[in-house]
Amino acid sequence: MLTANDNRAAGSAADNRGADSVAALARESYRGIALYSTPRGRCSVDLSDNTNLWGAPPAALRTLAAVRDEDVTRYPVAYEPALAAALADYVGVSADMIACGCGSDDVLDSAIRAFAEPGEVVCLPEPSFSMIPVFARTNGLCPVAIPLTRSFDVDVDAMLETGARIIYLCSPNNPTGGALPRRTVEQIVENARGLVIIDQAYAEFGGDSFTDLASSGRPVLVTRTMSKAFGLAGLRVGFGIGSPELIAEVLKARGPYKVNALGERAAIAALDSDRAWVDERVDEVVANRSDFRAELAKRGFASLESSANFVLVPVDDCAATASRLERAGIRVRALPGLTGIGDAIRIAIGPWEMMQRCLDAMVASA
Ligand code: PMP
Repeated sequence: MLTANDNRAAGSAADNRGADSVAALARESYRGIALYSTPRGRCSVDLSDNTNLWGAPPAALRTLAAVRDEDVTRYPVAYEPALAAALADYVGVSADMIACGCGSDDVLDSAIRAFAEPGEVVCLPEPSFSMIPVFARTNGLCPVAIPLTRSFDVDVDAMLETGARIIYLCSPNNPTGGALPRRTVEQIVENARGLVIIDQAYAEFGGDSFTDLASSGRPVLVTRTMSKAFGLAGLRVGFGIGSPELIAEVLKARGPYKVNALGERAAIAALDSDRAWVDERVDEVVANRSDFRAELAKRGFASLESSANFVLVPVDDCAATASRLERAGIRVRALPGLTGIGDAIRIAIGPWEMMQRCLDAMVASA
């Protein structure tokens, strides 16, 4: 007769065999890809993810509180036409130029899948949004990173020379915070071989809008999100702007029902009724960003110019700095060994009392 211990031993041998056979079956090209890791537990001042630190917009919250039975029991309308119309009104295009997604992550991932065959090149600047090489690899493509120039502009010639099927640009750029000059973006758009993606997740906080390039007759997709200025990161609503033909290809790759009904309703409410609330928060970010950078400089920290709702601060040892700040109740993003910069911490901008606590902790931990 088998004892409980025998059963456990047999179970764990089977588990190991299971893990081995899964590893043998899984796509070989996925072996080097790790799951995205985020910090565990709450922190009293969390400045690590560039969300809206004032909270969620009021009309969106009211809508969520009044959720109806059918919002939960029924499927949403495929491809979210009502949300697309509200977003189109917000950015000044027609609704057939909008593809929504489960965060702009989903739109970026779908576009990368839609516009290149496995083995082709996705070119991106470095440093830039860390998920792009991951989306390239999970879709069987080859990411090629081109370092930013010394003035943190993209290297137009080097990017074009890759002959990439997809060129990714990010303005304002995460994690450096800089916005791209219009001429740089136009040169890439005019000369690229394939799709140009312009990620504008932080557009509300500064820099030029490149929405007009989506109507330029060239294959351009501008991506935006409700996660940052609009304070709805937890609902996962993002969108892309492109020509109707380009948007149809992105939606094919994306598939139906990717935005949940509650996210859709809350995002529509925010777009209809919370724009003034968002504008006020954005104004406060811009004022606090400039004061925070000035206060950092007084304390000996030279941060990079930023058009986003965060600043990047080069430091000697980012892991040590971030863990000292975490002990003081402040969470920032540690970014080790950034190309052309070295170690740095990225700090989101929020209400001034949070920024003051961060400044105090930085001096105490320096
Ligand atoms: N692009 C950039 C540059 C980002 O920083 C982020 C979020 N960190 C995203 C896209 C994705 O945001 P979301 O999926 O929440 O729209």
